[in-house]
Amino acid sequence: MIEPFTYVAHPGRVIFGNGTMKQLPTEAERLQLKRVMVISTPQQKASALEIADLLGPRTAVVHAHAAMHTPIEVTEPAMRVVRDMNIDGLVAIGGGSTIGLSKAIALRTDLPQIVLPTTYAGSEMTPILGETRNGVKTTQSNAAILPELVLYDVELTMTLSAALSGTSGLNAMAHAIEALYARDRNPIVSLMALEGITALAAALPSIARDPASVPARTGALYGAWLCGACLGAVGMALHHKLCHVLGGAFDLPHAETHAVLLPHALAYNAPAIPDVMARLESALGPQPVEALFRLGKEVGAPRSLRALGMPATGIDDAVSRAIANPYWNPRPLEAGPLRELIAHAWSGEPPVPELGRNT
Ligand code: NAD
Repeated sequence: MIEPFTYVAHPGRVIFGNGTMKQLPTEAERLQLKRVMVISTPQQKASALEIADLLGPRTAVVHAHAAMHTPIEVTEPAMRVVRDMNIDGLVAIGGGSTIGLSKAIALRTDLPQIVLPTTYAGSEMTPILGETRNGVKTTQSNAAILPELVLYDVELTMTLSAALSGTSGLNAMAHAIEALYARDRNPIVSLMALEGITALAAALPSIARDPASVPARTGALYGAWLCGACLGAVGMALHHKLCHVLGGAFDLPHAETHAVLLPHALAYNAPAIPDVMARLESALGPQPVEALFRLGKEVGAPRSLRALGMPATGIDDAVSRAIANPYWNPRPLEAGPLRELIAHAWSGEPPVPELGRNT
């Protein structure tokens, strides 16, 4: 039966393919950009310089200073450059960190953004920005944050290491899995979610075996686009909350934390979402929790929070933080089972299927 729903489409142009980067000058012209700031991390400066070359005289400056978690100390100097150089548009090439800086500038200026994603994190499809001030990361949503154009070029993902491809791909899957049981889920987003999960489940093991496989890279980027669109369209729940809490409290790496926690968070919610678990079987195969746990192993993702540097003494602290500010989740948050979830994710043991048996 179709449940009642509300569906809101985000504006935005998406171009997908292999070699699409070459369309950048035409697209910059379409947006009438004349003084562009090209943004990247220091590690991807060479790619930013390539983009600058492609844009030719439209490039005003290359700003290769993006950093993880969008610290305000990085945004403020970038804003000074934007003002001093009279910038009229932003072109970001990179993953969530680079896109975060572009979004932070767009939020303050409403400048148009062209984004060329090089990971599977999905930030390019969302009007959401997480910024860090004095070590505290806060998230906000605003129409000005959403990029005007996303240019997906498979070629740009070929250099993403096999390890980061696996964890980043699982990060993407997490958006789609939580979208399926979101409080504000709707039929279009659920279709995108299932297609995205299916594409990534097929592509990620192939990338792990052969990172140079163009068909596998194409499938993964296609899946990442769909999963990012899910993240931008509906609310997330326990899994994203836990990643946010643990990442902030113990300074854990973003994609890796998602990769470790995902099967455990799904195991927790499974008893409350039998319809979603049945749909997930079509994308992941029988027993989706176990399938996800195996997928993490197949793609070489870290297996435990312990391996990411979280101390054992942090488990109880993590439980308290996770239930401190209540938020919606398909299954109510209960300290006992949550502790079990986090303890298993910490040690790297398989998820606990009986977590919710009595619920
Ligand atoms: P990242 O952007 O931090 O990239 C990790 C490293 O890999 C960086 O050094 C980067 O330069 C490098 N890299 C990226 N792509 C590469 C490529 N193709 N080849 C070689 N090196 C490459 O990692 P991420 O996981 O994409 O982003 C994480 C950040 O994004 C977090 O801060 C997270 O909170 C944020 N995020 C935000 C949203 C949102 O909607 N606001 C969504 C997802 C993630």
